[in-house]
Amino acid sequence: MTPTAAAAPRPTLTHTLGFPRMGAARELKFALERHWRGEIDAAALDAVGATLRARHWQAQQDAGLAFVTVGDFACYDHVAHHIQLLGCEPARFGFGADAPELARYFAMARGAQGGGHHVCDAGCTHGAAAAPTGHAALEMTKWFDTNYHYLVPELHADTQFHLGSQRLFDEVAEAQALGHAVKAQLIGPLTFLWLSKDKGATLFDRLALLGRLLPVYAEILARLKALGVQWVQIDEPILGLELPPAWTQAFEPAYWQLGKAGPQVLLATYFSPLQEHLRLACQLPVAGLHVDAVRAPEELTGVADWLPGYKVLSVGIVDGRNVWRTDPDAALQLLAPIAAKHPGPLWLAPSCSLLHVPVSLQGEEALDPQVRSWLAFATEKLDELTLLAGLLDGRVAPDDARLAAARAAVASRRASARVHRPDVARRLAEAPPGADRRAAPFAARQVVQRTRLGLPLLPTTTIGSFPQTPEIRAARAAHRRGALATQEYEAQMRAEIERVVRRQEALGLDVLVHGEAERNDMVEYFGEQLAGFAFTANGWVQSYGSRCVKPPILYGDVAREQPMTVAWTQYAQSLTNRPMKGMLTGPVTILQWSFVRDDQPRALTCEQIAWAIRDEVTDLEAAGIAIVQIDEPALREGLPLRRGQWQAYLDGATRAFRIAASGVGNATQIHTHMCYSEFGDILPAIAALDADVITIETSRSQMELLEDFGRFAYPNEIGPGVYDIHSPRVPGEGEMVALLRRAARVVPVRNLWVNPDCGLKTRGWGETEAALAAMVRAARVVRGEV
Ligand code: GLN
Ligand code: ZN
Repeated sequence: MTPTAAAAPRPTLTHTLGFPRMGAARELKFALERHWRGEIDAAALDAVGATLRARHWQAQQDAGLAFVTVGDFACYDHVAHHIQLLGCEPARFGFGADAPELARYFAMARGAQGGGHHVCDAGCTHGAAAAPTGHAALEMTKWFDTNYHYLVPELHADTQFHLGSQRLFDEVAEAQALGHAVKAQLIGPLTFLWLSKDKGATLFDRLALLGRLLPVYAEILARLKALGVQWVQIDEPILGLELPPAWTQAFEPAYWQLGKAGPQVLLATYFSPLQEHLRLACQLPVAGLHVDAVRAPEELTGVADWLPGYKVLSVGIVDGRNVWRTDPDAALQLLAPIAAKHPGPLWLAPSCSLLHVPVSLQGEEALDPQVRSWLAFATEKLDELTLLAGLLDGRVAPDDARLAAARAAVASRRASARVHRPDVARRLAEAPPGADRRAAPFAARQVVQRTRLGLPLLPTTTIGSFPQTPEIRAARAAHRRGALATQEYEAQMRAEIERVVRRQEALGLDVLVHGEAERNDMVEYFGEQLAGFAFTANGWVQSYGSRCVKPPILYGDVAREQPMTVAWTQYAQSLTNRPMKGMLTGPVTILQWSFVRDDQPRALTCEQIAWAIRDEVTDLEAAGIAIVQIDEPALREGLPLRRGQWQAYLDGATRAFRIAASGVGNATQIHTHMCYSEFGDILPAIAALDADVITIETSRSQMELLEDFGRFAYPNEIGPGVYDIHSPRVPGEGEMVALLRRAARVVPVRNLWVNPDCGLKTRGWGETEAALAAMVRAARVVRGEV
């Protein structure tokens, strides 16, 4: 049935793998939060959802896409919708037969008491702490290497599946009623199982559930077909990961079953090269394959070679993960040979769902017009697809104004002196060898730092931020709006710093901090002061649930034009004789939580940031600050999806950190902080940072994590968090004593610090003071024992 050649010209179709759901004005967020506060009922919330879906489908139709995508919408999370669709809500929630679907959904998402998930800053996410275990929310974790968090399905060896929700079919009908041609979207069965968690008492193989799961998928597909749906996009992004052979082998039989069950299947892969799975992906018994040509342009020829000629080839040509306008000439150069080679239908799409980019550039008038011209958000990306398809087919004339505009924008970005700064390039090129090494090894630094700092054994400190009261937030917001004069604002912040210092002294902490009252966000604060960053008014991206982040746009060479934190830190130090710790965000975290330029390697951009941070570190040292903390909470999340690429990433990341940290003398103590609990496989890289002190989150794992450090014989000093800051609960002195004793068994006592798990910005003052007082007492108790 393979046609011999594409004699007749076929139009190139366009589609999207998904669209942002929040709405350009974050309508969904606000409706959700009102619903949770009890201000609007489920029907009113649904109405907001329906309005947004209709608007987003219309945008897809207006752009000329061949179908609208249905099934990508979610009130909280699309994986959680699949849990309901597939009828596998965890039994532990004990839902009654009459519990409404939406209420069950939010119970899974937020815990039965609506405790919600907590994020301590832009990226560090934790499950609901307050709800009792029986009704605690599902765990959340990052969706592949994105900043989107999904709710993790919980499976047991005896989990049964059934068609458990009508929502998808209702939405299909909704789109059809609006006159749209529909492509439905589903997460594939293998990816669904892979992303789930075994929750059974005994270990079992999630893959063993596939046989039970497939009939439900078949039923869903049959229902979609009955609704007249022609295409279903089934996402199997795990084909871009290293997989155990049993998982790889499960694909073919599974898709034999699904390929026949309903509408034509477009298998969608993204985020990562297919590599060893390329042939498998091409040859699965489905009607089409989508590949990510942004992350893996080099594979496109191989895909065109292996994909049977009659199948649809969907090329993810527009970057779904980033905000840059597509270079039309580069895209066509990649596409033209593929179009010639592949005789079957060719579709163009974003590389992945547009969930990961903001909705629209409309409303970004405050953005510098030149920078704005370089950007394309979700809505603009849809237009890019139509333009590219038209150019490829010769339906759009070479002198089309849209093409000229795209070319002009690309050329202006390439040539802009704001993007390419010779001074920055020169600085990196002329970096002396060894610029990323401290002058003396740790053991020697430790001796001079001890003498200089004169700290007791088990020194106490905090991670940086103190409670951000409504007054502080109001002052910051008013200053931003221009409603509070700078002088008055600074006076208020200084008063706050003084209060925070006095409280720390009264608590008896050994190493103090200024409290970060002037910071809204640990990346934005630095981005706003560094050259090379731009900020949008509305460039929100969903992080999880109703929570959105507005990542800075890192468009050009990064440089620090003037000190960013020195005045605040110096003022704080002037108030006390105890050491004041300077507080900075590290290069990897700044990179990770921004939209990053795509015209040079990420590692190079990271190194530029590192030099800018280094300038700040050395200025702090010159201002008499003896301890500087460089936070890297995002270091681990930057790990590439494929292990084969880990080492290169870790080498670049550790080098960047060391560049930032190594401009100072031996007597200046560098701290770093990371808030996660999986270190085992990256301990060599953590050690390679060569920070004098690392503070980490450990209290919720009862210090288990520290045992990794002990086994590894981690050489430098460590502050394992002794209490969980994600809960308002005040820990007892006794628990912290026990944790410290346990820590002292695995790490030499002379290398141990005492601190909470993370910053305290989300806590209230009452619980903070009580907890820190108990922490200081606990440190004194254990000091007395050694
Ligand atoms: N210094 C920051 C704070 O205390 C660290 C935040 C973080 O690790 N996410 O808030
Ligand atoms: Zn933290």
